[in-house]
Amino acid sequence: MQTAIPRGGTVLAEITQLLELQATDGQLHEFSIQIDRLRAQQKQTEGRIAKEAAAVDQLRERLSQLEHESRMKNLEVDELDVNIRQYQERLDKGIISFKEMEDLRAKIVLERGRISTMEDEALTLMDTIEETKQGLERAIADCDEKTEQLRSQIGEIATRISELQAQAAGLTDERAALRERIPSYLVQQYETLRGSSSEPIASIQNGTCAGCKLKLSGSTIERVRGGMGIVTCEHCNRILYVDEYDSDD
Ligand SMILES: [Zn+2]
Repeated sequence: MQTAIPRGGTVLAEITQLLELQATDGQLHEFSIQIDRLRAQQKQTEGRIAKEAAAVDQLRERLSQLEHESRMKNLEVDELDVNIRQYQERLDKGIISFKEMEDLRAKIVLERGRISTMEDEALTLMDTIEETKQGLERAIADCDEKTEQLRSQIGEIATRISELQAQAAGLTDERAALRERIPSYLVQQYETLRGSSSEPIASIQNGTCAGCKLKLSGSTIERVRGGMGIVTCEHCNRILYVDEYDSDD
């Protein structure tokens, strides 16, 4: 980040240092924004991994439901089979009336019909189970592959975060050293102002404060131009300086 240089004739070393401090704080803020953004990306990527896994779980759940249905169907077929055998036994013993025999025969026909329908359904169900199993295998392979890709993305993001953190730590050290060189009353003033504004050091542009954009009084401008100590904006209290490149002369 380029630090503006206060006007040569009235350079106040303090202003230069404060501008450096402000630039450093700006950079640190940038780092923290970037790190936050990367962390959000990481979280989003983790969400995608969870979504992939959830899709597989859903398929697995569906398969186990189908298998349960299949077992139930087979049990029902077995029960019907038992019924038919019991009817047949009673018929074979033959100690019942003709009417009862007719009823039993009708029941046997009916139950056989039901068994036949159920067996067809069971076969269809077996096909569905087989397809679902294959689908699940594909989904698992797919999920594994995507998860690996996403994990590697998360790793890259983590590396980037570490790099930024290291850079930020270096800059924080530089800031501390810089802070040491600035008179403490100025640092305090700067930090108080920074509580309400990200850039407490403002240049004078066209007779106005670049921070609050309000017109400054002639005497304020004169005091800044004359290098008469630290001068603040009468509206927003920002510390003022005259930019070397400002053509408003
Ligand atoms: Zn102002």
